[in-house]
Amino acid sequence: MKIPKRSNRFYDTWRFGQPQIRVYHRRGKGKKSPRHLLKCGCCEQKLEIHYTEDGLEIGGVNGAIEDWREILLPLLLIGRKGKRFISKKSSMLAQRMTE
Ligand SMILES: [Zn+2]
Repeated sequence: MKIPKRSNRFYDTWRFGQPQIRVYHRRGKGKKSPRHLLKCGCCEQKLEIHYTEDGLEIGGVNGAIEDWREILLPLLLIGRKGKRFISKKSSMLAQRMTE
């Protein structure tokens, strides 16, 4: 799964109105799985996401892809209908804040 290339400029606010997350990729080597390195747009805070065919390790937490989906998709306002993924409207953001 590819994350689109981004400029990774520091404190780049033009797209989202807040500093854009900087994303770097490392290929796997030997026993080391490939990873994405996510860096905060405004400071040096970072998060590593290692991925294999059936799992993800995010910030040192290991889980099956399906497990992560259950946790992350609602946060990203993505719903599911059977096997299909459906993007929810951003008006759902307001609703999320009250839950
Ligand atoms: Zn920051």
